[in-house]
Amino acid sequence: MGTVVISADAELGWGFHDLRDRPEERLANARDGWRWFAELCEQYQIPTTWAVVGHLLCDDCDGRHTDHPTPDGWFDHERGPDAMPRSLRFADGLVDDIVESTVDHDIGLHTFSHVLFDDPTTTREVARAEVGRALDAARARGLDPTSFVFPRNRIDHREVLASYGIESYRGTGPGIRGPGRTLRKLAVATVARSDPRIVTPYVDDAGLVNVPASLFLFSFEGAARATVAPVFGDPVLRHAKRGIDAAAAADGVFHMWLHPNNIVTDRDARRIECVFEYLDRRRNESAVRVRTMDEVAAETRAEHKATGISPD
Ligand SMILES: [Zn+2]
Ligand SMILES: [Zn+2]
Repeated sequence: MGTVVISADAELGWGFHDLRDRPEERLANARDGWRWFAELCEQYQIPTTWAVVGHLLCDDCDGRHTDHPTPDGWFDHERGPDAMPRSLRFADGLVDDIVESTVDHDIGLHTFSHVLFDDPTTTREVARAEVGRALDAARARGLDPTSFVFPRNRIDHREVLASYGIESYRGTGPGIRGPGRTLRKLAVATVARSDPRIVTPYVDDAGLVNVPASLFLFSFEGAARATVAPVFGDPVLRHAKRGIDAAAAADGVFHMWLHPNNIVTDRDARRIECVFEYLDRRRNESAVRVRTMDEVAAETRAEHKATGISPD
């Protein structure tokens, strides 16, 4: 019996604050995209792992965070004439809606301020502050997150996560190191019709459960999408359907992910709605299940304990 996992990196403006060129359209739609995606989960009763940037969970801040060991200037976007608006720095109710949803979502973390964990300036102290503060902000709201997604999937300081009681993270796995590589791999897969990536979660050497990613739902964009879609249909949707079918036919996990702020146009929304529609249908007519990262982590640990061996 296979499993489908969906994870969403919930970050509003935090995913872009260190970039010179910010995608204004995605930022302008970030809150609407989040709400729309949460409603879609509700409509289809699909539980999702929401990896939330910890700062979003705060009620307020001084815009400086001088006691945080990040490099100088890291929080500059929070103040001054070009400051990112409050609506992109605080969830202000968006996370509460997910918590209160009729769907049993998994609220995980995506650091405190979207620090890149493999950056040379990210010392162990910075990593500890990013995990510790995110957990504090979550616990102040009565949450107890155990799932984690690394900003831009840049994995490092896993032992810090383990020391704070995080149980699982989304891995990248062999051959996929981020959206750039994913795009190329998917472009090839679309042409060659190679098999979707069914993954096997495992307990890693830091004692965390790695739930590797299978498909970034916005990995085939821009000119490539515009060229291929009119002829072959939406290549990502096709790939997602084949992944769901593969999970229905075998053991293992098909793990799709996105940022809610990827959903900007009607075409983007249609893609995600079609994926959910198909997943819901297959869930009803086959043995495929939908599980969150925390559930998959618990099952993987139980198996690991029973067999004492990692499938990796
Ligand atoms: Zn702040
Ligand atoms: Zn992110």
